[in-house]
Amino acid sequence: MKTSWKIFHYLLYVVIISMILISVMTFNTSVSYATGWKAGVSSVIITPDKPVWMAGYGNRDKPSEGKIHDIHVKALAFEDPDGNRAVIVTADLISVMLDFSNRVAKTIENRYGLPRENILFNTSHTHCGPESRLPLLFYIPVEKGGRIEEYVQWLETKYVEAVSAAITDLKPAQIQFTSINPVPFAVSRRLPSPEGILYRSGPSSYYTGGLRDDTVPVLSVKSADGTIRAILFGYACHPITLNIYKFCGDYPGFAQQYIEEAYPGATALFVQGCAGQLVPNARFQLEYAMGHGRALADAVTKALEGEQMPVTGHIAGAYEEVICDHEPLPDRKVFEGNLNSKNVVERRQAAYFLKKMDNNEPINESVPCPLQVLRLGDEVLLVGLFGEPVVEYAVRFKSENLTYKFIWVAGYCNDGLGYLPTWQIQREGGYEGGDAMRHMPFTGPYTETVEKRVVDGVRKLVENVSE
Ligand SMILES: [Zn+2]
Repeated sequence: MKTSWKIFHYLLYVVIISMILISVMTFNTSVSYATGWKAGVSSVIITPDKPVWMAGYGNRDKPSEGKIHDIHVKALAFEDPDGNRAVIVTADLISVMLDFSNRVAKTIENRYGLPRENILFNTSHTHCGPESRLPLLFYIPVEKGGRIEEYVQWLETKYVEAVSAAITDLKPAQIQFTSINPVPFAVSRRLPSPEGILYRSGPSSYYTGGLRDDTVPVLSVKSADGTIRAILFGYACHPITLNIYKFCGDYPGFAQQYIEEAYPGATALFVQGCAGQLVPNARFQLEYAMGHGRALADAVTKALEGEQMPVTGHIAGAYEEVICDHEPLPDRKVFEGNLNSKNVVERRQAAYFLKKMDNNEPINESVPCPLQVLRLGDEVLLVGLFGEPVVEYAVRFKSENLTYKFIWVAGYCNDGLGYLPTWQIQREGGYEGGDAMRHMPFTGPYTETVEKRVVDGVRKLVENVSE
């Protein structure tokens, strides 16, 4: 008798516990999906199928010779409970230009009604991708593997395909955010010395004491059954581990690959941060690129195993092209002299501007520079800066906008020509301070107004989305 009572009590206990568990699980599910958010993701291969000119290093002298792995354009679309949408587009490319981003955005706006301010284009800045920027200072004939116009035209269709696929894929999702740090393989190449800032391109003399942004932001998208569909993550460091002639996403490419292997069926998307002066501490070997990628992927996996905050609230975007001024063009005589320079960059720049002068083509000292802010719920604010911002911008915006739980500051957004220094770095000089502008079709370094235009511009956009 006693035994059967024990069994009865035991069964009753099991039933009650099961009921509690079921109700807790149901409650959890309803809490997760009560946010009413949707997400969609896509990944499209953009590896050229024939040799093309590669981006990243001015001394390249031949086209691509195959690949280490495929490179991709990927899109992650979000929809909040009110039907507001936003799309983040990432790619294993050096960068894309403003007219390219605006053309893709226009096509998407016409097709889906998504406003320009709610679509953001980021590139990883890999130096082992096809050249995707126009205009360049120099022309490479097709027989030498040029094909840049041809590739960029094809690329545009792939971007539209990726964004369309992500929007079509929108379905109920649980969006969560977390961050982790550090992944300390980034170091500064601006080495302070009694003679001023020295620009260092070799690991032996990097400045490990320089400012960095080691925090890895991680945003995950889960489906109704709890499986991870997408992982958006970031880091701030130049993908210049490799300088080879094979297509490769460098460390961000490997990180995405390793994360997708760890979460089968998920798409991993990389967002490059303000990596202006930040470079990997070990370079020029495939193993190093894989090692940095592994370190980053491991950090992301660890972050996903820990506590994450749900993304709730609404989506809002703000976008503006501020005008940034460059120093005026030097005298024609300077360029005529530089035509015979030993420096290939000076020769290319001289030929480019002399041709423009001879043809009476307009030469603009002021250029539109896109700034963008995407609010993802009440938790995450993504600030997208153009060009190659130095890390000081990330540190500054992160410390300024304390209403949000996380400020994610990305560089290489919407437009990719040129470094974006602070006024302090401009005064210090060096590569990011102005010297690198000689690689670009600009009249000269920025004038001293650029930092203020960027900071004021971002502040205004943050106000717009925070109402
Ligand atoms: Zn760069």
